[in-house]
Order: sequence, then structure tokens, then C-alpha cells
Amino acid sequence: MDRVDCVVIGAGVVGLAVARALALSPAFARRECMVLEAADAIGTGTSSRNSEVIHAGIYYAAGSLKAQLCVRGKALLYAYCAERGIAHRRCGKLIVATDQAQVAQLQGIVAKAAANGVDDLVLLSADEARAMEPQLRCTAAIHSPSTGIVDSHGLMLALQGDFENAGGLVALNTALAQARCTAQGMVLTMADGTELLAGTVVNAAGLSAQALALRFEGLDPAHVPPSHFAKGNYFTLAGRAPFTRLIYPAPEAAGLGVHLTLDLGGQAKFGPDVQWVEDPEDLVVDPRRGDGFYAEVRKYWPGLPDGALQPGYAGMRPKIQAPHEPARDFVLQGPAVHGVPGLVNLFGIESPGLTSSLAIGEQVVRLLQPV
Ligand SMILES: Cc1cc2nc3c(=O)[nH]c(=O)nc-3n(C[C@H](O)[C@H](O)[C@H](O)COP(=O)(O)OP(=O)(O)OC[C@H]3O[C@@H](n4cnc5c(N)ncnc54)[C@H](O)[C@@H]3O)c2cc1C
Repeated sequence: MDRVDCVVIGAGVVGLAVARALALSPAFARRECMVLEAADAIGTGTSSRNSEVIHAGIYYAAGSLKAQLCVRGKALLYAYCAERGIAHRRCGKLIVATDQAQVAQLQGIVAKAAANGVDDLVLLSADEARAMEPQLRCTAAIHSPSTGIVDSHGLMLALQGDFENAGGLVALNTALAQARCTAQGMVLTMADGTELLAGTVVNAAGLSAQALALRFEGLDPAHVPPSHFAKGNYFTLAGRAPFTRLIYPAPEAAGLGVHLTLDLGGQAKFGPDVQWVEDPEDLVVDPRRGDGFYAEVRKYWPGLPDGALQPGYAGMRPKIQAPHEPARDFVLQGPAVHGVPGLVNLFGIESPGLTSSLAIGEQVVRLLQPV
């Protein structure tokens, strides 16, 4: 049986960032690293079906991994984009209150962000916000200058490039079917029956992470959280974008509300909404959901013309809580928790996973420090 020191399962943005961090870490120097990816290309999962927003770190509970890794990941990501010439723009965003009840919510958001170390938010009156974005209707707003957008595919290619330059190998069309935890390491069995012995394994399989962890013989299933899926549908705007910044309504319980984001080409899209589904492969956008989008968007952009929205694409949030349960934090689970030497499972890496990816890489290396 072939032996590899470190194996990362999944070549999404998180798996690639983890693989790069392992390959570049002095603690793992001269160890052979491999990424196993079931698909025929990198980044075809959730990493290519998101808003491509570099989040500031505003909304997450103080002290949570989401807060810490988002704020740290944002700083690392801007520096990495500058260093590697990855397309990005620090365009800023406005979070808007559209009625008086939401104005108090905005004050709470500023306080929450400050507790996370995001101290550059500015509360704006309606006139101040409209001076920045004349088409906007609001009662008040927050300006977040450190929010931005990034070319997620350019980012993933740069991560893959660094990993491969450090001697790593990405194996496409290679699905891990199951694993067995032994005293010598983890025996990984691929879908085609081939086996590999690995000392270190990082499960970054995104939507499949829990299902895969349950196929690790020797890992107590009590450590694997439940799997739920919340689809996020996007509708694209025909014609020119009326805003130069990202526009977010005051957040909702399960998501950030139907917001407007821009891509680096200036195309505007609205979404994602929140649609709980059973099947993680259910990525078709039902055009009928557009009716709800018109109503939500017109709360802050009354000028949205009839017929301007077209079904775009959908992404799937890997949730570890059921609908109506409180939001859960990222789970980065190492040997100290589950007792299997060399194994790290990454569960529930929904937004802000793209922003946090480089910081997740750092954190996984810490969880795996070789003894
Ligand atoms: C609608 C939506 C909008 C979002 N917007 C943002 C945003 O604006 N900003 C932000 O920071 N974050 C955002 N996110 C979150 C972000 O997209 C994710 O956190 C991130 O892409 C997760 O990356 P990943 O590598 O963990 O998962 P994935 O990209 O899903 O990668 C997992 C990979 O594992 C592979 N795989 C699965 N099983 C196996 C197996 N058995 N063997 C081998 N390979 C396997 C899959 O093929 C896949 O390529 C958003 C998410 C959604 C759903």
C-alpha cells in the first residue's frame, strides 16, 4: 500500500488553503502532501457558488471561530491577493435599515463588530448614505469600508500553485469512499478500491464532510454533528448596476437577507435567500422565487424595474443545525476532541468560509502540530 504523510480531502477553497498551509509549514517540512478531489477539477463545489465577498467579520458572536477566523482571514486574504496579483476590490458595503425598528438593530451590529475587533464601521444618516449611493432608500445605514470582493477561482488557482510548488500533489477524480483508523495511520479506500496509508488526514469535504466522517471506522460517530442543507438562490440584474458598493439589508435569522453584491466585472446579483432542502444536489433556481426578491429588494431600491431580475445560480450552505435552531459556529475538530491521532474534521464551513480560508489553514496546522 502507498503511504503519504498528509492527505486533505476536498479541493475547495478551504481544502486548498489547508493543503497550502500544511505544505508550507516548517512543522510539516519534507512531509509528502496530497489533496484528493472527487470531481474532475478544483473548486467545483460551494467554493464556486457563493457571493465572493470578503466579509469584514461583523455579524458573528464575539469569541466564536467565525468571528476570529473571519477577521484574521480577511487580513491574510487582502495581503495574499496583493502579493499574488489575485483580482479583488475593497469596495465597501452599506448595511441599511429600512424602518425605525431596524435602526436599533444597526447600533447592535456596530457594537457586535467592535467586540470582534472590527472598529471601522460608521453609522450614517439616510442623507449621508444617499450621498454615497443616490439610488438607495433607507432610514439609516452602516458603512463597512473593509468589505470587498475577490475572484474566488483566481484565489483557488494561486493556492493550488503554492501547494504544488511546495511539492504537493492534487489528485482529481479521486473520491475517498471510506477510511479505517489503525495504529499505523489511517487506511484510506478510494471509490475505485485503491488504498493509501496516511498519517495525517484533513476532512475538508464541505457538504459531504459529515457523511464522510461517519465512514471513518474508529472515529466515534458521537463526534459527527448532523447535516442540514440551506440553499441560497441568486437572481442577476439585467443592465447596469445602480450601486458601487455592496448593499445589505439588516440581517435575518438564517442568513444575511437578500443583498446586492457585485462581481469584479460590475455585474450585480441579488441573494442568496434561504431555502432549506433535503438534497444537497438540488441547485436549480426556481424562477417563481423571483417574486419574493422584487419585494425584498424594493425595500432599499424602489427603482428596481419590473422584469429586471433573472434566475442566476444557487449555492448550498453546509449547516449543522436544523431550521429554527440557533446558528452554530464552525467546527474544526482535531485529535484533542475525538482522540484519533492525525485526523482533523471541518464541519459546517458555511459563510464566511471563503474569507476565513487562509486562517482556517493556519488553525488546522496548529491542531496537527506533529509531536
Ligand atoms: C450561497 C452561499 C454564499 C456564500 N457567500 C460567501 C461569501 O460571500 N463570502 C465568504 O467568505 N463565504 C461565503 N460562503 C461560504 C463559502 O463559499 C464556503 O465556506 C466555502 O466555499 C467552503 O469551501 P470548502 O472547501 O469547505 O467546500 P467546497 O467548496 O464544497 O469543497 C469541498 C470539496 O470536497 C470534494 N469532496 C467531497 N467529498 C469528497 C470525497 N469523498 N472525496 C474527495 N473529494 C470530496 C467536493 O467535490 C468539493 O470539491 C457562501 C456559501 C454559500 C452556500
